[in-house]
Amino acid sequence: MVVQKFGGTSVADPSAIRRLIEIVRQARTRDGRGPAVVVSAMSGVTDALLGVAAAAGTARSDDALARVEQLRERHLTAARDLVPGAENAALSAHLTEAFDQLAAVVRALGVLREVSPRTLDVVAAMGELLNSRLVTAALVEAGIPAEWVDARRAIVTNDDHTRAAPQMRETNAALRASVLSVIEAGRVPVLGGFVGATPEGHTTTLGRGGSDYSGALVGAGIDAKEIQIWTDVDGMLSADPRIIKSPRLVPRLSFAEAAELAYFGAKVLHPSTILPAVERNIPVRILNTMRPEGTGTLITAEPSLDGTPLTGLASKRDVTVIDITSTRMLMAYGFLRRVFEVFERFRTAVDVVTTSEVSVSVTVDDRRYVEAITHQLSEFAEVSTEQEMALLCAVGDRLRDEPEIAARVVSVLEEVPLRMISQAASRRNITVVLRQADLPHAMQRLHEEFFS
Ligand code: ADP
Ligand code: ASP
Ligand code: MG
Repeated sequence: MVVQKFGGTSVADPSAIRRLIEIVRQARTRDGRGPAVVVSAMSGVTDALLGVAAAAGTARSDDALARVEQLRERHLTAARDLVPGAENAALSAHLTEAFDQLAAVVRALGVLREVSPRTLDVVAAMGELLNSRLVTAALVEAGIPAEWVDARRAIVTNDDHTRAAPQMRETNAALRASVLSVIEAGRVPVLGGFVGATPEGHTTTLGRGGSDYSGALVGAGIDAKEIQIWTDVDGMLSADPRIIKSPRLVPRLSFAEAAELAYFGAKVLHPSTILPAVERNIPVRILNTMRPEGTGTLITAEPSLDGTPLTGLASKRDVTVIDITSTRMLMAYGFLRRVFEVFERFRTAVDVVTTSEVSVSVTVDDRRYVEAITHQLSEFAEVSTEQEMALLCAVGDRLRDEPEIAARVVSVLEEVPLRMISQAASRRNITVVLRQADLPHAMQRLHEEFFS
């Protein structure tokens, strides 16, 4: 059996959901059972819900309530279209009750004027929780025996609200009890991605784009033979299509390459997606809902050593570079430990590190604590920061054994001022740090050199 995860644009409206239904039907006919279905919120809904919470928390209740009504209308309209029959009453009643509750939360937040991360998760999770109900009913209406599974009972996480980490053992047990048992009973389990709950039952979310991660967790939990990520592009592309006009489809990728590309900005895959798949060695396939006949991108454990010299490019914007210079003449041992302890204290991940005799430069993506971090670092070092920087990352298994590829990457970028260059021990990627303004040009140069 397979897991099929459908992203926001693949469930955006009734016609998208009808395509989903046919994709599910085909998988079921082919495999004789399943599949397990994981859905995102309809596209734009998570943003809208976060907007509702923000407006409510700053006492713009009217604005927030107007947005709630728009969301209510969008869901009820889709429900009428997809489930016109007798089942509509129950579905519409459920949606209506949920949006009434959301409106009540908005009024309460207007009084409190404060939105805690825990409340934010309750609001953000609604997109997936409601859409999974809607898709379940639509599948049933189309003659497929589907059953809604509450993601809050299937994905068990810690309490790091808005970016919670799943607890694997508990989650696997919960998934077997919920999702697997539904498949074994001959039905199609449908659950919302992105959402989980703590062991105490508080709703959590896995971070933006986290439905991919849910899909992979379900795949690992039920030991699926394949995890399919259905989205709005043909697969993993050689570069971000929003930067490069006609990137190539990457037909095959290794887990390691996919993890690097996702971590360094290829939005088509949430960076944590690969972990559960690696653990159980389950292939991941990225497919296009608009063109289901395509072959997509297949991600497996095998290194992809026969294709192009590089496998793909990825980039991250809005990166901050922090330069830390030891105030002693030389970098005494213990210096790096003290530096990284500060980042650990603020739970801020460092992406790229380069060092010289007396200084260390790092990049961070999460800017929330940069000021506090620099403040603490300046107790024992000179610190300066630079914003509006970007990371550009070239990935490929062949970089490991063919050092001339890395040399070519750097020489292609010779006119671009590079702030840092880094190649890690895995030697599967080479990453450069540059000014954000230089990113499109640098990306273009690299793409022409390696992919045209
Ligand atoms: P979904 O809602 O299905 O999860 P996302 O918007 O999260 O879809 O991810 C798909 C988008 O990722 C694509 O539409 C594309 O713009 C973007 N993207 C960025 N880099 C890449 C890449 N290397 N390959 C494919 N898509 C990419
Ligand atoms: N709906 C969530 C988001 O927009 C999760 C996802 O779609 O993967 O971030
Ligand atoms: Mg996504």
